[in-house]
Amino acid sequence: MNPVFGQTGLLRMGLCLMDTIQNIHAEIDRQTAPIENIHADRLQCRRGCCACCIDDLTVFDVEAEPIRRHYPELLTRGTPHPPGACAFLDDHGGCRIYAHRPYVCRTQGLPLRWIDELDDGTPVEMRDICPLNDEGEPIETLPEDQCWTIGPFEAELVDLEKEMDGGQMRRVALRSLFG
Ligand code: SF4
Ligand code: SF4
Repeated sequence: MNPVFGQTGLLRMGLCLMDTIQNIHAEIDRQTAPIENIHADRLQCRRGCCACCIDDLTVFDVEAEPIRRHYPELLTRGTPHPPGACAFLDDHGGCRIYAHRPYVCRTQGLPLRWIDELDDGTPVEMRDICPLNDEGEPIETLPEDQCWTIGPFEAELVDLEKEMDGGQMRRVALRSLFG
């Protein structure tokens, strides 16, 4: 079980997948909220700003399933956004599945940090931010806790997907959910 908050253990305790994913997303939102507050002046993220809503996003099946369950009408009768941007964008650049959007969409605009490896195996910290949110204190000098750390929640989703599909690690293209 991942040490962050062990949501996958909740599955074993009898919570259904929908509740488990909802809990994971709620925890992500809880943890991103203070980081968003700290960076409120630099973040340009808002409804209609959708340069980050690219067309080739894939998610683990455990994050696709809530979209299937909550938006059957949209998926069977709705029209996907034309290729070139995420199929779930509406005509005004808004997200049509916002309440159940996947993990990656919940952290996109924040200063991001992750641990990579140099060729010789030495760990190195990497940082990045959406170019639209770059103005302000250089992200290289931000304290760690003012950045979103990539890794722990990904591990949580990996554990959950493994538990649900027996290790097939199915990934689903968001666009493929239509039709
Ligand atoms: S699911 Fe919504 S927030 Fe995520 S990329 Fe698509 S339109 Fe954007
Ligand atoms: S991450 Fe960048 S492109 Fe996406 S909503 Fe925020 S400012 Fe706009």
